[in-house]
Amino acid sequence: MANDTAATEPGRDFIRDIIDADIAAGRGREVVTRFPPEPNGYLHIGHAKAISIDFGVAQEYGGRCHLRFDDTNPTKEEQEYIDAIQRDIHWLGFDWGPHLHYASDYFDQLYEWAEHLIRAGKAYVDDLSADEIRVLRGSLTESGRNSPYRDRPISENLDLFRRMRAGEFPNGARVLRAKIDMAAGNMNLRDPVLYRILHGPHPRTGTTWCIYPTYDFAHGQSDAIEGVTHSLCSLEFADPRPLYDWLIDNLPVPSRPRQYEFARLSLNYTVLSKRALTELVRQGRVSGWDDPRMPTLSALRRRGVPPAAILDFVRRAGVARANSIVDVAMFEHSIREILNKTAPRRMAVLRPLRLVIENYPPGLEEQLDALNNPEEPAGGTRRIPFGRELYVERDDFMEHPPKSFYRLSPGGEVRLRYGYFVTCREVVKDATGEVVELICTYDPATRGGNAPDGRKVRATLHWVAAAQAVPAEIRLYNPLFNRPDPVVGGDFTADLNPHSLERLTQSQLEPALRSAAPSEAVQFERQGYFCLDPDSAANRLVFNRTVALRESWSKLRDSDPPPVGQKT
Ligand code: ATP
Ligand code: MG
Repeated sequence: MANDTAATEPGRDFIRDIIDADIAAGRGREVVTRFPPEPNGYLHIGHAKAISIDFGVAQEYGGRCHLRFDDTNPTKEEQEYIDAIQRDIHWLGFDWGPHLHYASDYFDQLYEWAEHLIRAGKAYVDDLSADEIRVLRGSLTESGRNSPYRDRPISENLDLFRRMRAGEFPNGARVLRAKIDMAAGNMNLRDPVLYRILHGPHPRTGTTWCIYPTYDFAHGQSDAIEGVTHSLCSLEFADPRPLYDWLIDNLPVPSRPRQYEFARLSLNYTVLSKRALTELVRQGRVSGWDDPRMPTLSALRRRGVPPAAILDFVRRAGVARANSIVDVAMFEHSIREILNKTAPRRMAVLRPLRLVIENYPPGLEEQLDALNNPEEPAGGTRRIPFGRELYVERDDFMEHPPKSFYRLSPGGEVRLRYGYFVTCREVVKDATGEVVELICTYDPATRGGNAPDGRKVRATLHWVAAAQAVPAEIRLYNPLFNRPDPVVGGDFTADLNPHSLERLTQSQLEPALRSAAPSEAVQFERQGYFCLDPDSAANRLVFNRTVALRESWSKLRDSDPPPVGQKT
């Protein structure tokens, strides 16, 4: 596979090549795709890749994309997930129009087709337990063995299957299996289970059914019912494809979908598996599905990631046939690129240190002009108050600095952004020896940030005027896991990053941030991109850091080319 990534030609990949070839060969006039989530959890960024392929391909070829819920396992599925999935797809900017479907819409038809297979001698009711079936199935190196119930007469199979449906048997008592080949090299063809008994209400069909088709039995037939032409899905569905084909070949279906598989998206320092994410929520490791540390779409939205950044990222990651792990730095690059153009600049001091200008007239308050976005001159200016008492960032001061430290230190002069030059004259400490205040002087001639005598300073600091400052809590997020390849399943406690959330409760913001709109991104100068969190109250603002201006834990610098995905 020489041409395995999308990088060669923008917008091109093997899936689009296949569709072009199908159209050229006259196989079908329209392109119909679908996105088939199981409503047993929230969508994550891996699903965004599938969504952007499924909906994107349909759009490009003037076709349509269905949203079909694969709701075949009522023990794990909930209306909450159905609603969240629709909200997240809309948020990404895609729409299924009138084509909102559910596998459960087809339960009658699927049941009829199950009886069709029984009548054709191609399915049978098995009384073995799940464990016994597993043992007889064999392994990759060892052929399977026939169930003692495999050769039941058709009439007995029909009778038992109907009684399964009528609710005569408890969960697990019997299953319906396809009769294919217990010696098949592909384990999916060793008489797979088509129906199982599950007593309990279904979110949509209530108690109408107590037997449910397996995903394998529902999936391809649902596509065929809907006239899906291209069933696009991730790589793990390549192995069962011969089973889907066998079912389509042996049933009187109205159309024949073709399935093509692409690599799953994997990101380092996180997990993209609904099962693992469910565990994180269930065990209380995170505050919920939308905890901003989660890779779910609802969490990314709460964190302030714009949908355009997600789509840009999955496009850059490409559509390939080989699985790979993409570096989260590449995702962050996409986020910064979008936000840099749009986010207004503001000043916020995350860890404040009081700075008093002893020669500034007491009671005086000036209004300084500040640019809203240097990248966007049309963004205009705003006024920020300046006064005798300010907050600066604690990290911007060192009492005993190394030679390369140009920010504040005793005797040192710096520029306050949009304001004046100030020089540190005195350091005030509390009883424990901690620095609590800097006494400075300012040079009134440097208003606006330049000295008339041409003298230079090497650092420009952000600051907030104490009298007008808005107190806030700021939440900084770091990777949820402390290793690039966390172990999925089992106990992942050891891999969790204990510092994934850092809450700064003493932060001080410039007054303009009081009217920040929910979900509007802002850049805190020199810090990163932030957005208001729904936990905010009128008297207590909470901001999330969407992404830092620069990645501190890698060695990336501004001038470096964008990071690229790395193959495993
Ligand atoms: P998970 O493994 O996270 O539970 P899933 O595959 O069970 O996900 P589904 O609801 O079955 O989730 O997924 C719906 C569609 O999304 C499937 O067609 C699947 O191929 C695709 N998909 C799921 N995860 C990814 C991923 N990481 N990258 C690309 N596509 C994905
Ligand atoms: Mg799956």
